[in-house]
Amino acid sequence: MKLLNLLAIACFALLLSCQQADHEKGTAEAAKAEMTVKAPLQLIIIGGPGAGKGTQARRIKDAYGIAHISTGAILRQEVADSTELGMKVQEVMARGDLVADDIILNLIEKRLKQPDCDPGFILDGFPRTLEQAQSLAPILQRRGNANIKVLLLEVSDEEMEKRLLGRGRADDTAETIKNRIAKFHRETSQAINYYQQSGILIRVNGEQSIEDVAAEIDTVLK
Ligand code: AMP
Repeated sequence: MKLLNLLAIACFALLLSCQQADHEKGTAEAAKAEMTVKAPLQLIIIGGPGAGKGTQARRIKDAYGIAHISTGAILRQEVADSTELGMKVQEVMARGDLVADDIILNLIEKRLKQPDCDPGFILDGFPRTLEQAQSLAPILQRRGNANIKVLLLEVSDEEMEKRLLGRGRADDTAETIKNRIAKFHRETSQAINYYQQSGILIRVNGEQSIEDVAAEIDTVLK
């Protein structure tokens, strides 16, 4: 009788410990799944003038709770505030030329250290060239390199021209618009190829309505 009792207790203990192990396994798996879901999104958005990059980046910032980093906006603010950096880049920007890589990289490195980038970020206007893309890679790697995606908003040159002409800004003539589009292709096509080869480029049809582009982005980011 005693032996039977002992056996019963032993079986019960074994059952309990199995359940506990299962529970722990489940918890570990759940935590892992959560970490995968919560790995900070490190997004890059690329698109020509008038492709809707800024519009989509701002929506992504709000929808995903991540930081929106527009190098053009940061630089314009520096110029408006007449900071040392602003004075340095003012002329280059007025010409529509690219600001030197060391200045941009320095700016990006500092910006990414701010705590609002911890949950993730979307880079808008950077990187623009192959050199910038190559310089960004180790910076992202140091952050854990978890969840890097590049969204390319594809819009034909004709559609970009049409949209920019429709905006009717004073400096937008058919010729300056054509030049800006050509400049985008010249500067950025190598960076696009680089991300294509890295396997992290996601092409999005930017010729749809703003809502449909947003929906397509949400689908590809899932
Ligand atoms: P955006 O608003 O992106 O068109 O940028 C406005 C201007 O800021 C550009 O014409 C450049 O002079 C400068 N700029 C912005 N982003 C970059 C970048 N990644 N590399 C070099 N210059 C940049």
